[in-house]
Amino acid sequence: EASWKGLRVTVAGLGVSGVSAARALAGLGAVVTVVDGGSGPALEARAAELAEAGVAVRLGDAETLPEGTGLVVTSPGWKPDSPLFAAAAAAGVDVIGDVEVAWRLRGPGAAPWLAVTGTNGKTTTTRMLASILSAAGLRTAAVGNIGTPIVDVILEDRAARAARASEGTGGQPAGEPYDVLAVELSSYQLHWAPSLRAHSAAVLNLAPDHLDWHGSMEAYAADKGRIYEGNQVACVYNVADARTEDLVREADVEEGCRAIGFTLGTPAPSQLGVVEGILVDRAFVPDRQKQAQELAEVSDVQPPAPHNIANALAAAALARAFGVAPAAVRDGLRAFRPDAHRIEHVADVAGVAYVDDSKATNTHAAEASLAAYESIVWIAGGLAKGATFDELVAASAKRLRGAVLIGADRALIREALARHAPEVPVVDLDRTDTGAMAEAVRQAARLATPGDTVLMAPACASMDMFTNYNQRGDAFAEAVRELGASA
Ligand code: ADP
Repeated sequence: EASWKGLRVTVAGLGVSGVSAARALAGLGAVVTVVDGGSGPALEARAAELAEAGVAVRLGDAETLPEGTGLVVTSPGWKPDSPLFAAAAAAGVDVIGDVEVAWRLRGPGAAPWLAVTGTNGKTTTTRMLASILSAAGLRTAAVGNIGTPIVDVILEDRAARAARASEGTGGQPAGEPYDVLAVELSSYQLHWAPSLRAHSAAVLNLAPDHLDWHGSMEAYAADKGRIYEGNQVACVYNVADARTEDLVREADVEEGCRAIGFTLGTPAPSQLGVVEGILVDRAFVPDRQKQAQELAEVSDVQPPAPHNIANALAAAALARAFGVAPAAVRDGLRAFRPDAHRIEHVADVAGVAYVDDSKATNTHAAEASLAAYESIVWIAGGLAKGATFDELVAASAKRLRGAVLIGADRALIREALARHAPEVPVVDLDRTDTGAMAEAVRQAARLATPGDTVLMAPACASMDMFTNYNQRGDAFAEAVRELGASA
């Protein structure tokens, strides 16, 4: 810890991860200043709290580097071209993120990391992985881009290991140390985590997203690919997404580290895949000649949509790389329940299923959920974030029975429907008020016939109409309940 004592650290951003990093580093003896361009009572209150922990806060200036800074710790929202980082570069000062701080703090003998990234499916896969590891009797947590800030989890783990080391000498009772961590990493976090070295890691898929932050698809892919650097046991990639395999090839890994593919088809050797409704492993079988190790049934995975089977295979591959037995993979997948607003079945009304996939905030995610149903009335629209919809609509046209469009950028979807699915009836709701979702559900109900699925997978962000995707999903569910009550 000598390296933190007296080090002048500037933390960029007074958000959740910034506050957590600031407290942790101050606790280790660093001299911490948090800078934030904002101002106002909420930030001042937070600053006052931090002052008690010995952390200085500078509001209203996010650009100049405080005198004597030896290290900058950034928060996810800050773009790489922020003036503060240019100032740091000019001064020869390193910039790192919360994940890198956590990695540097974990200390010798700490739990290895099984890491997950990708454009879509990160949270689901990481939680599936944690569920599998728990089923194997391992002490674990899903961390990173989920839940408790990762720096806090690492500090708690250090305390637990220190307590164990001093057992019998009157050490404070603490939690058990972790055996292994399931770590979800965003492309931002990877960008700022240069020394992270996972036990094994997976890139689930790569589709254009957040390009405004990264600058280009190449830069985005390169940041995602960082997750494979220095992997010890396995680099897990998606056979259906050649870009993920390219990233494995470009990575510098430990000797003996293997490339392991996952596929929804029949797996080749060194792959996990699906054979006649069974998830099978041909990568981690003791005898390579042996056909395949059965892991679980497709119906053990909730929901059993194709993209989600892929998530389950990726989670299984990481767990198997860590030595988890097949039965624990099955038990962990069975115990897993998806988070809210991710292909969540809300209710059946008059023979029509209503499904909330509000988390489908980009076209790649929406395409995956549209592929999971046969006959769909689609509720879509919101903020497009620069996306185009032709590919999505062309791929899904056969399955659409109707579409109801809401939100600011709905014209883009309407035009794509006119080009690729001219037969599909479209209701264009010219409104962005909060009552629009209830109207959209009523219109969708009108278009649907028994056996259809009304799928709210907007392919857009929600902020034009809602606070976030949770609120959008709740509005949908509420509208479906009203529909059921009046049916
Ligand atoms: P993330 O953490 O990467 O945002 P989530 O697990 O929260 O991913 O899932 C977000 C949305 O992405 C889901 O609602 C679903 O529509 C879609 N999705 C999940 N897994 C995949 C996948 N493997 N491929 C494509 N889309 C997916």
